[in-house]
Amino acid sequence: MPAGLVVLLLAILGACVGSFLNVCIYRLPRRESLAWPASHCTSCNRSLSWYENVPIVSWAVLRGRCRTCRAPISWMYPIVEIATALVFVIGYELYGLTLLAAVRVLFACALIVLFVTDLQHKILPNVITVPGIAVGFACSLFVPPGWRDSLFGILIGGGALFAIAETYYRVRGQEGLGMGDVKLLGMIGAFLGWKLVLLTLVFASCAGSLAGGVLIASGRGSMKYALPFGTFIAIGALVAAIWGMPIVDWYTSFYV
Ligand SMILES: [Zn+2]
Repeated sequence: MPAGLVVLLLAILGACVGSFLNVCIYRLPRRESLAWPASHCTSCNRSLSWYENVPIVSWAVLRGRCRTCRAPISWMYPIVEIATALVFVIGYELYGLTLLAAVRVLFACALIVLFVTDLQHKILPNVITVPGIAVGFACSLFVPPGWRDSLFGILIGGGALFAIAETYYRVRGQEGLGMGDVKLLGMIGAFLGWKLVLLTLVFASCAGSLAGGVLIASGRGSMKYALPFGTFIAIGALVAAIWGMPIVDWYTSFYV
């Protein structure tokens, strides 16, 4: 099969998976079933026909509105579908059709769901992060980073943030970081290993501080009204998964 066709098929598959991720994003924070009922307009409750369910295309053709009640449909839906399609293609470009590619794509899909639920609801659902830790560790028995790195990743990723959260709470007397963030970093450590989870934390802190600074400078909010930290962790993990190892190798080359 020509490589271009593989990429096209993977992009289509990715967009369809993204469509399922949208269902997770909408229903998990509301504690609704993923399997039932079928897709419906969240405004008028009408069931959607198949041609209203085509990823990306339907939203564009309907111009972001329900066909009957004209209620706006969030642009987050096509964004998630496009992002997931990209994840499938990038996974293939980086790792080919391998088990590692499948594991990293699964990991990225979990991060996409967590990014949006934290952004919209400030929730990092336990049903993703907790099994995510176990799945990441199980996968590491067969693919990089290997089970030792994965185990240290869970302990250091979860542990480091737990220590930061505790210190912040003791010093400031208020909760700055939630246990959801701790479990998320544990999951990232399980999938990527201890080096990349630390790099994720560095990326997330830099991005968080930068965004906080911009918000304050523009007078649109204080640090108290900060963006949820989980969104920065999710982005940091995606960056670390793609470009992390070269950065870690470059950094450690000064010391070894
Ligand atoms: Zn409607």
